[in-house]
This record gives sequence, structure tokens and C-alpha cells, in this order.
Amino acid sequence: GYPRSRSEHFFKKGRRVFPTGITRVTVDHEPSPLYISRGEGAYLIDVDGNRLLDLNNNFTTLIHGHGFLPVADAVADLLHRGTCFSNPTEHEITLAELLIERIPAIEHIRFVNSGTEAVMFAIKAARAFTCRPGIARIEGAYHGAYDWAETGQAVSPAIWNDPLRSPAVPAYRGMPPSVRDEVTVIRFNDIADLERRIASAAPSLACILIDPMPSRAGLIAPEPSFLAAVEAIAKKYGILIVADEVLNLRQSHAGASARYGLHPDLVAAGKIIGGGFPIGAVGGRKDVMRVFASDSGKPLLPQGGTFSANPVSMVAGRVAMEAMTDGAFAALESLGDGIRAGLRKEIERQGAAFSVTGAASLFRIHPKGKQPTDFREAYLAPEEAELMGRLSRHFLNCGILLPNGAAACLSTAMTTADGDAVVAAFADFLSILEATPTE
Ligand code: PMP
Repeated sequence: GYPRSRSEHFFKKGRRVFPTGITRVTVDHEPSPLYISRGEGAYLIDVDGNRLLDLNNNFTTLIHGHGFLPVADAVADLLHRGTCFSNPTEHEITLAELLIERIPAIEHIRFVNSGTEAVMFAIKAARAFTCRPGIARIEGAYHGAYDWAETGQAVSPAIWNDPLRSPAVPAYRGMPPSVRDEVTVIRFNDIADLERRIASAAPSLACILIDPMPSRAGLIAPEPSFLAAVEAIAKKYGILIVADEVLNLRQSHAGASARYGLHPDLVAAGKIIGGGFPIGAVGGRKDVMRVFASDSGKPLLPQGGTFSANPVSMVAGRVAMEAMTDGAFAALESLGDGIRAGLRKEIERQGAAFSVTGAASLFRIHPKGKQPTDFREAYLAPEEAELMGRLSRHFLNCGILLPNGAAACLSTAMTTADGDAVVAAFADFLSILEATPTE
């Protein structure tokens, strides 16, 4: 198996200080997490000295991979001059200008510290603007840990097959029951479901929260007619559209909504815009963003945060984003196209019951013969989840960290040889699978 004695040593220590030994639920700890010693471009080196091609990139954050020199140099320069102040710096303006220039839906912006916070403030801004409490959100999509945004993520067959159970599934035990009353869960790419559910909740809805290609819900492309229906119904009832682009902003120079023709009123961003440091941002229409304004006294929506717009995140983000030129996005996309095509070719060649979704620098492999078109079709039965676990372990043994249950992503540090290695590892897995009798 995979050598991990040093990792096991740290896991033992971790268990003494953290519940289950970890501090993020997303850490794969079967049989132990891989503790990382350092990153080098497209690669991770763990504490046992294993070298891994990193297709996780801290859950799609590191668009340039690890140790990107321009960011490292710019941040090193800052470290000696102070890393956070109660006062603003010029750095927040340059990053804001860059984002406003690129992302059509963003006219004004505010910085926060995480994607969770970005989504939270976008929802609060929609509420403050419309004076309504409720939100609609897509079944199965992940939007961070704000109660209203996470309600309706953990939908499973037991719930969708039972007409008496609401898909507004509580996110944790003890969640205030009132949260569920304020969340309407709609199915992705299902216009009839959208229209029916929005119509019945409309008078209390502040926004429709939508990630144009929700990763945890399958990384499935939106139907243009579905996005058009979202826009039409939002307009009809005076509901705002909040695009969660925390993950998918990396899909183009102008972001994901622009790529898919969605025109949101507010956008939540994060991940790549911090260049590897904590960040979040909420931006959008000037008149809606006025809810944050305090030039005539107390704002309708107060927003602060000790580390908001700290210069380290601002500078790292600006430098990382400046390097993401149109050409850099195009190169990343063609690497992604090559990998997706290579994976599909292997599936076809070996007649395997798998499919591939994703776009630009993102992909997901599904153990499904028919490519899923929504969360329910992408949902994994226990034996399928087990198979995906085996796929991840096989990749690990081939020196590749493939996220299990989340989007795999590329960085500008990767080469076509790295892409070929991904396809070869998958081809190898399929041929082993073919040769192994099913259990
Ligand atoms: N929204 C989406 C679409 C995300 O992918 C994530 C993070 N995976 C978040 C929100 C939350 O961001 P953070 O982890 O920075 O709080």
C-alpha cells in the first residue's frame, strides 16, 4: 500500500487534540490523512516523502499550484511591513478594480474572509434590499456553512422518495426549525420544479442562490433554458439572483455567470481571488450594494470583519489574478478539454460504465454509464461510493491526489504530461476493474 507511517504518527497526535484528529470535515482520514510537508508547483510532498500530482489544489483555490513565485515574492515583501491594519490600504482598491473590470455583474464590491462569509453577506444583502427573509437554493449544492445556505444540501433518496419529507434538510442537529421555513429547495435543470416551488414561496423570497455549475451536486452544466427560467421567474416576483461563484469563478476571465449567460444581481466570490490566502467577496449591482453604505448613518446591513481586506490576501489575490490573463485561462481550458476527452475516450474504448462532467479547469468522474444531468442522477449508491473510494486509492498509488466526491481541478503549473498521467491512471484503473470479478 501507500507508505504513510509519518502521517500515521501525526494522526495519532492529532487525535489527542481534535475530534477524530482533524480540523476540517473534508479531510480524508481513511486510514489516516496525508500530512503535507510542502507544495511544489503542481505537486504535493507528504511527510513520508511521497510526491503527488495535486488535483485538489485546496478545493480549487490554487489556480497556479503551490509556491507560485510572483505571489510568494509580493507577500514576502509585505510581511516585514505589517500584515493587517484597522485602516484601509491601497491594495484593496487594486484588487477591487481588477474584479470589477473583469466580472460584468460586479459594479461595487466588499471583501470578507471566506466563501462562507461571502455567501452569507450576499444573502443578507438580498434580504436587506428586498426586505424579505427567505432564500431558494439548488438541491445538493454546497454553499458553505451559513445555516440558510447549507439547508437542503444533504438531500438523499430517502427524502426525495418520500412526499411527506421536505428537501430543506437541516444541516446539523439542533438547527433552529425556523431556518427550514425560510429555505426553498429547487432541482437543478428542472424548470417545472423551479416554477412550482418559486411561485408558492415567492412573496417571502429575497433571492435565488445558484452556482452555475454546482460542484458537490455533480459538476453538471446548466441548461441555458433553465438559467433563462431562473432569470424570468426572479424578475416576475422581484427576487434577486445571487450567483455563488466561490468555486466556479475559475471557469473564465469573466467568471462563471458570464460564461453561461446568467445575469446575477449579486455575486459571491472566494478561493482563487485570494492567491492562496483566506478571502471572500460579495459584489453586484450598485443599487443593491447600497445596503452596505454608511454615508447617511447606520447601513441597512452592517458588514465588518477583523481580517476583511487584509493586505496579504489583497496583494496575493491581485498578483495571482493578474497572471490569469485571457491566454492563461485558454491554456488551462485546453488542458482540461484534453483530460476530459482522454478520460471519455478510455471509457468508450473499455466499454466502462463511467462518465465525465465539468468544464474549463474542472472535472468530475462519475461511476455512471449515463452522464448525470442533475444531483439525483449523480447521487452515489453505497456500492458506487465504494467504487469511487477505490478509484481515489488507485490514483494515490499512481502518485495523483484525486478528490473523492468533489471537483478535480487543474492549475497553471500543470503540463500536458501531467494530464496524460491522469488519463493513464484512469485507463489502468478501468482495465483492473474489467479483470476483477465484481464482489
Ligand atoms: N460556495 C462554494 C460553491 C464553495 O465551493 C465553497 C467552498 N468549497 C464555499 C461556498 C465556502 O467557501 P469557504 O470554504 O471559503 O468558506
